[in-house]
Amino acid sequence: MSDYTGTWVTPTDIAEYSVCPWKVYYRRALNIYTEASGPMAVGWMEHEAWRRFYAYFDRTNTTEPALRLVVSRSASEALDWALIGFDHYPSSLRSHIPKLEVILSKEALRITNKLNFGAAGLALPTSTEVSLSDSKLGIRGRADLVYKSGNGYQPWDIKTGQPPTELLDSYKLQVTAYALLLESSYNCEVKVGGLRFTGLGLDESFPITPELRQEVVKIAEAIRLMLRAGSHPSTNRLTLTHCKGCGFNQICQEFVQTLPGARGS
Ligand code: SF4
Repeated sequence: MSDYTGTWVTPTDIAEYSVCPWKVYYRRALNIYTEASGPMAVGWMEHEAWRRFYAYFDRTNTTEPALRLVVSRSASEALDWALIGFDHYPSSLRSHIPKLEVILSKEALRITNKLNFGAAGLALPTSTEVSLSDSKLGIRGRADLVYKSGNGYQPWDIKTGQPPTELLDSYKLQVTAYALLLESSYNCEVKVGGLRFTGLGLDESFPITPELRQEVVKIAEAIRLMLRAGSHPSTNRLTLTHCKGCGFNQICQEFVQTLPGARGS
């Protein structure tokens, strides 16, 4: 149990703030949350399927029927789970299952190849959905996947759907925040992190550089200052490329239309 009494910041806060501080202000200062959309529900279902997939994957039985069973069981159980929590989107959830099975089957093949060719390090994660915190940094969060290779531990984040390319830097900050948390929890140096873009079938690893580390710490402090002061961001609203696809778009529109000077500071 942590004795930290300050304001916790999460790796997601840090990633979001780097794109647009308003998103963090709405959620953390004003307690405004966006409604779960169909794509969000599908994303959560996929995360649940990944978690089950790694739990059921048996490295001692990688026959084709065994792998098929792991894939279909993970997908169908995740669907049952999601239909209870996100019952507004049954057809979006159901229609994603065939694609999800293809995605998981590819991962099963990738793992089997790695195991067969003696590259077991990055074949299977050592753990999934790992809760981590560091009271010195005041950051806490849950890493999707943690791998261990000859290079040490690596945090990976799963990104579902077709994430906009302009968010890539923010994803790297999120993973770097997990890297810092892993370092303090596992008492090790984390040199590499990674992003799995499931919809694109792409795994991207990258070095955890001093610049990324500094940026994470700087943003965490900026968020804490903003929340402590209760002051809103001074950047202009509705001016980013990303605004169109942002869940807070409606809220920003309302503020800008109803309050004089609400576009920015
Ligand atoms: S709509 Fe644009 S300005 Fe508003 S919160 Fe989203 S990204 Fe930020």
